Amino acid sequence: MFKPPEFKQLIAETQNTSSSDVERALTAARPTIHDLAALISTAGEAYLPQMARRSTEITLARFGRTTQLYAPIYLSNYCTNRCVYCGFSADNLIKRKCLTIDEAEKEAMILHNRGFQHILLVSGEAESAVDVEYMEAIALRLRDKFAAISIEIQPMSEEHYHRLFLAGITAVAVYQETYDRKMYKEVHLSGKKSDFDYRLETPARGAKAGMREVGIGPLLGLSDWRAEGLAIGYHLDWLRKEFWQTAFTVSFPRMRPAAGEFEPLHIVSEKNLSQLIFALRIFDQDVGLLVSTREEARYRDGMLGLGPTRYSAGSCTAPGGYGSNNTDGEQFSVGDHRSLEEVSTMIRNKGFDPVCKDWDKEFQVKSL
Ligand code: SF4
Repeated sequence: MFKPPEFKQLIAETQNTSSSDVERALTAARPTIHDLAALISTAGEAYLPQMARRSTEITLARFGRTTQLYAPIYLSNYCTNRCVYCGFSADNLIKRKCLTIDEAEKEAMILHNRGFQHILLVSGEAESAVDVEYMEAIALRLRDKFAAISIEIQPMSEEHYHRLFLAGITAVAVYQETYDRKMYKEVHLSGKKSDFDYRLETPARGAKAGMREVGIGPLLGLSDWRAEGLAIGYHLDWLRKEFWQTAFTVSFPRMRPAAGEFEPLHIVSEKNLSQLIFALRIFDQDVGLLVSTREEARYRDGMLGLGPTRYSAGSCTAPGGYGSNNTDGEQFSVGDHRSLEEVSTMIRNKGFDPVCKDWDKEFQVKSL
């Protein structure tokens, strides 16, 4: 089982670094976790242009000029957890909805007709609304229509993940939110999610179940972002050693306005976010790095090719929002409202290739 260092130790590791540590990290052939600590440290801030250059070189060498595109489909906003930062928290008086299988298919087909080949099925964490049978039924309905279907729902057992993999789900994303145990307890007031360790073990269960790709990430704004970034490095390093067949991605969601109006406890600026992305890219050359529509168009355009490899586009975070054009009951408000076509045009105009399909269900059938 993965055991991250104590959070205060992670903070100390990012503080005990100097300019020479950063310079060594920038030229290391195989950067270590200590190099990552140097790159995301305060000392690293002075080297942001060099980090951006190194990160760009690696991204170009490993991923070419491609940027993958996907869109989320919110299936349900029912949730039994009380996470103080989230619009779906059980405490919030929002309009709740769980799509029927037919409604989910309808939403998916809207995205399909817009050109999406990769979708992410998202829901709040309420097993009474979204369970393995429900997800299985949706996956079986959609598997022939999309090249890749990822999920971001409540943590499941290895057995249930395997059932979903057999039904056509290709990837699972589960974010620890914060690796700071003390803060985790303070912001997860009740519900199954308040079990820090069970959540921490979830990416490994997804990988053991055979998922092609597993996504991890912190919710930036809850605790010290440098220490969160280092924890991600430790987690990624452990996962890579245990599950060498699995592809991994990291997301960097920064808090957005949501119902409940929780204010971030730690401000993470765009400059901080960029440093974190460059550092992770230099540390792990193959990891997929996601920047969603939480971020504004200006920022996403500027980061193209510098480290991120996957963007969402044309996103709505309310169940049924694509068909109804209604954002009532959304999880958070998005920062980039552009459509797939608009984001693709921006990518092409900058000399890159938008990619809607990087996987085929045939590969999944062969890998069973
Ligand atoms: S973060 Fe997830 S688990 Fe927590 S309230 Fe929101 S939807 Fe529910």
